[in-house]
Amino acid sequence: GVANGSAARPLFTVDSPNVVYSESEIRSKFTYRTTTVTRDENGMYIATPQETVYDFKVDRRVPKTGVMLVGWGGNNGTTVTAGIIANRRGLVWQTRNGEQKANYYGSVLMGSTMKLGTDANTLRDVNIPFHNVLPMVHPNDLVIGGWDISGMNLADAMDRAKVLEPTLKDLVRKEMAGMIPLPSIYYPDFIAANQEDRADNLIPGSKACLAHVEQIRKDIRDFKAANNLDKVIVQWTANTERYADIIPGVNDTADNLLKAIENGHEEIAPSTVFAVACILEGAPFINGSPQNTFVPGAIELAEKHGAFIGGDDFKSGQTKMKSALVDFLINAGIKLTSIASYNHLGNNDGKNLSSQKQFRSKEISKSNVVDDMVEANTVLYAEGEHPDHCVVIKYMPAVGDSKRALDEYYGEIFLGGHQTITISNTCEDSLLASPLIIDLVLVTEMMTRIQWRAHSNDGESTKGYQSFHSVLSILSYMLKAPLTPPGTPVINALAKQRAALTNIFRACVGLDPESDMTLEHKLF
Ligand code: NAD
Repeated sequence: GVANGSAARPLFTVDSPNVVYSESEIRSKFTYRTTTVTRDENGMYIATPQETVYDFKVDRRVPKTGVMLVGWGGNNGTTVTAGIIANRRGLVWQTRNGEQKANYYGSVLMGSTMKLGTDANTLRDVNIPFHNVLPMVHPNDLVIGGWDISGMNLADAMDRAKVLEPTLKDLVRKEMAGMIPLPSIYYPDFIAANQEDRADNLIPGSKACLAHVEQIRKDIRDFKAANNLDKVIVQWTANTERYADIIPGVNDTADNLLKAIENGHEEIAPSTVFAVACILEGAPFINGSPQNTFVPGAIELAEKHGAFIGGDDFKSGQTKMKSALVDFLINAGIKLTSIASYNHLGNNDGKNLSSQKQFRSKEISKSNVVDDMVEANTVLYAEGEHPDHCVVIKYMPAVGDSKRALDEYYGEIFLGGHQTITISNTCEDSLLASPLIIDLVLVTEMMTRIQWRAHSNDGESTKGYQSFHSVLSILSYMLKAPLTPPGTPVINALAKQRAALTNIFRACVGLDPESDMTLEHKLF
């Protein structure tokens, strides 16, 4: 493990007058270049390049970090826990294909690289692991805990999930048997009625109240103290809830939301109570499910407290493919006219989603994921024009966690021709979601250690250093329905989301965005 507050040894340093390293910080000066567009009286665009100079300050001391999962005993919760234990211990187990070593495949941070630059001699790209760009927490060092309405220990819950190989389960069973989820809050109206039989580990009370907020805050503090942690990040990977109605005077403002919790209003979801507790406790909270946990009052509360929140809904399978494929098709100039998406799955998530109100949350989350790409292409689509888009999800117990996603993309090509692309995607849902849970924790933790300030035109810095906005839209790559600061655009295109993540990390160490121009190979 990493000692509290120790600085990880970097893989590279940046040699630039704009970048200064100290024992505890990396300070960089970064010029952000954008283009402002206006229109003249004839309606012609005028594009004006702009420059803003920012100082970034990165705290290099990697904190001892804990992650608390709401829904710890579920498929995702048990799988990510076993996966981290397996990696931490460097486990190797037998499968029918031979030996399998623990790895972090599917994690952008742990499994992918970023171009650092071009080798001075060979002019070849030099690529480094994404995880080494900034001084980040290593997932092997995360301490895991959490809550579940099912009191089953994690070893038995892992069996219930039916995701992992028996040989791997045997190696982690002992450690996981000692992990028991904390009691949680259960308001039966919010998740499917078919979940009731597993709800045996409950904090008393069946609607929101301040005592629930206080208990969750205490759980976070106790976990932090018991494990000698510097920081705790909380993630909702519990069942999908139904949408909460947005009611003026109840959940529309921060004050109203707190009052509504105090008064035990029936329209406050458990996930919102967790979010509020985390905001008040200063623990970042990320929502991995599709429901509208972040009602306007919760977002305002986070802003008021400068607390970090992120969401919604892990983007693991079908939607991830969609946000890559639609980005490609529309940017290739092909007019996509219909997307038919069908899923079936047999895990407990599927069982919960077989209930109409919970399915509706998922349907909403899956529906808007191409809007930005369609809207951006004013050549192919008239204003307000959209491809047809339909999402179906069915519960088929036999396939268990191995989710099937069948998609048909239908589009118009040159001179009235048509292209039909059919995709059949089969994979273990929880093995896709677990690395995302890790990425969300790592990026969120990193964002708590980055501060910025802007320079005014005369070169003076404007205000003191401050944090990024409470709503961490930088997490969009990992999320289906990205939450963004109120009034700011949502970006679903996968390539843009990855570029934002990459280039913000680069800026923090004073490196320009990766432009992919490679002029050094084109202009000699
Ligand atoms: P799961 O049903 O196996 O696990 C959910 C767990 O949450 C269960 O153990 C349940 O007992 C617990 N729970 C329910 N309400 C709770 C509460 N109020 N407090 C504490 N615990 C509670 O589901 P899963 O497959 O692990 O998925 C978890 C969530 O992630 C689902 O909402 C799912 O839609 C979402 N999600 C999953 C994926 C993926 O697995 N690929 C992708 C996107 C979103």
